[in-house]
Amino acid sequence: MAKKKTTKKKTAAKKGRPAGSKNKEPDTVLEVPAGCARCHSTDLGVFPGSRLVTQDIHGTLRPTGKRFTSIDIRRMQCRQCGAVTIVKTYNYDPALWK
Ligand SMILES: [Zn+2]
Repeated sequence: MAKKKTTKKKTAAKKGRPAGSKNKEPDTVLEVPAGCARCHSTDLGVFPGSRLVTQDIHGTLRPTGKRFTSIDIRRMQCRQCGAVTIVKTYNYDPALWK
């Protein structure tokens, strides 16, 4: 078995981007649910053949107050129990926020 390095590196450095640099990738603000609705495993895979639907909705999440500019809706399948869950990913792209 291949040995994995278990260096726990939390990359919280993703936030502050240098001023003036363009950020093409929108930030993921929130994912709901964060795991399987049935067994609460977070080991979800994209459901084969499922289409990613993006809704251009702007809003603010409560109670965090985080903004989002689009929602990705995707069918995910739990690798543990096989249940299919609709996962909504909230993204925030500063360039789109008005
Ligand atoms: Zn499950």
